Amino acid sequence: MTTADPATDDTPRIGLGIDVHRLERGLRCVLGGVELPGDLGPSGHSDGDAILHAVCDACLGAAGLDDLGTLFPDKDARNRGRDSREFCTETLSRVRGAGLRVAGLDVVVECERPKIAPHRAALRASLASLFAVEIARVNVKGKTAEGLDAIGRGEALRATAIALLVPAR
Ligand SMILES: [Zn+2]
Repeated sequence: MTTADPATDDTPRIGLGIDVHRLERGLRCVLGGVELPGDLGPSGHSDGDAILHAVCDACLGAAGLDDLGTLFPDKDARNRGRDSREFCTETLSRVRGAGLRVAGLDVVVECERPKIAPHRAALRASLASLFAVEIARVNVKGKTAEGLDAIGRGEALRATAIALLVPAR
C-alpha cells in the first residue's frame, strides 16, 4: 500500500460517517454542537451528538485515520457525558496533522423529532466554526422516516455525513 503525500498529491479525499443514537425523554438535545429545544434527546456515553460523531468519522475516514470509536472508546470513563465539540477539536487537529483541511461537509439527519429545518442556519454555522470551513460549504438536511422502523417511531436518530478534504496548502 502506498500512502499519498499531501505535499505532492492534490487529489481530494472523501469520507463517510454514520451514527445512530437512541432518543429518550428528559435528556438535553445537543446536535451539531447546538442545543435544540424539546423534551427528547439522544442518549449515549458522551453527549450523544450524532451529527458531530458522524462528521468526525467522515473527516477521519477521508484522512485515512482511526475512527472516533477507536480514538475515544465509549468504555473510557473520561468520555462519559463528554462535550462532543472536544472530539471535533481533536479530529481537526489530526486532519491538519495529515496536511489536509475540510473543504466541504454535507449532513442528513433522520428523525421524527426534533425538527431540523428551523435550526439549519444555526447547525451550519456551528459546523462551519467547529471544522474551520466556510458556511457556504456546509449543509444540514432533516428527513423523517415516514413512520417506519425505530427512527420512524421516534425512538432513535441517525446522522449521515460526508466530508471532502483537500491539501491544506
Ligand atoms: Zn455517537
